[in-house]
Amino acid sequence: MQLKTFSQSDIAGKKVVVRVDFNVPLADGKVSDDTRILAHIPTITALLDAGADVALISHLGRPKGERNMKYSLEPVCARLAELTGWNVKFVPDCIGKKVSDAVTEWKKGEILLLENLRFYSEEEKNDKEFAKALAADFDAFVMDAFSASHRAHASTRAITEFVPSYSGMLINREITMLSAARDNPKKPFVLILGGAKVSDKIAVVENMLRKVDTILVGGGMAFTFLKALGKEIGKSLCEEQKLDFAAKMLEEAKQFGVKIVLPIDVVTAKEFKADSPAHVTDADSIPADEMGLDIGPATAKLFADEIAAAKTVIWNGPMGVFEMPSFAKGTEEVAKALVSATRNGTLTVVGGGDSAAAITQFNMQDKVSHVSTGGGASLEFFEGKLLPGIEPFILGNH
Ligand code: AMP
Repeated sequence: MQLKTFSQSDIAGKKVVVRVDFNVPLADGKVSDDTRILAHIPTITALLDAGADVALISHLGRPKGERNMKYSLEPVCARLAELTGWNVKFVPDCIGKKVSDAVTEWKKGEILLLENLRFYSEEEKNDKEFAKALAADFDAFVMDAFSASHRAHASTRAITEFVPSYSGMLINREITMLSAARDNPKKPFVLILGGAKVSDKIAVVENMLRKVDTILVGGGMAFTFLKALGKEIGKSLCEEQKLDFAAKMLEEAKQFGVKIVLPIDVVTAKEFKADSPAHVTDADSIPADEMGLDIGPATAKLFADEIAAAKTVIWNGPMGVFEMPSFAKGTEEVAKALVSATRNGTLTVVGGGDSAAAITQFNMQDKVSHVSTGGGASLEFFEGKLLPGIEPFILGNH
């Protein structure tokens, strides 16, 4: 999938507004994790180097269309300046007079950061008039917020109707890596699924079932599959209403020659608590008063062997409750297996959200081919959906 991106002649000397995702965690009025800010530095740098004036727009939290200073982007302004040494000026609105005044007074090399888009309810409604107002003071728009690209909002979609628009480097890297895995995988192709619920991953399983060679299922979702096979799962998570789906998938996988690998052993505890004593049990004989909170060591080894034999791996969802140290081992072992597969030339792609948080927790995020910055967006991409914030840039799509 090729996207329309900018070249120097498109933007030199132009006023460019860039949609970033600065939806960062804040603690005591300060940015407590810079990951999302750092992800956009390459695009901003490329625009500055090409001679553009750069203004940034983003959402932060869920102010629900109201001007709530708890969700102001002002703290991000200071942090961006600190991290880069750039002269970053905060504009306390994202449309209207305050923006046009700042544009009139714009100094060379200064970056403008505009106030939270979601202070206006029109943003999430993909409102055209609001989008037009967002574009009004600028000559070009660059979409760089991959993690917001599964939403059709005024700043991710409608704005492209009002000003020449291009995709940024972050979006391009995401789409290159995710589509290499989804659309052009070298075989064997292994999909690893985990996380709490089957229901969140149904569309991914349906879309990928015919494409992959093997699916490794861990996390809470594995127990619905185990139960569908008639196993005792004790107090483990189970989505009763998804048992039929799980049984159907197991059947279809057989028909298509796809191997679905379920846990053979699990780490269990009596309670969903970090200090609840943990035991390793066979996956088909979990005691009635225990719940499975991680894959066991034999399963981790089984999964690692499948990953070692793969040429393409997509991973979405942790293997257990990785936030609690006693139940993080399975997820860590899978992360390690991805790292060694990457070293051996396998393309390894980690979906955003909890799998990205897990691999970062183990400090292995730089040792795999790609960790997506978008949880919902990467999930929808693997579901085979056309992302509304990406669609306008797909070359050959019009
Ligand atoms: P998801 O957002 O669907 O990827 O789910 C991620 C969450 O699933 C994480 O917060 C994990 O703690 C949780 N999780 C993983 N395995 C289990 C399990 N066996 N039981 C309960 N929760 C789990």
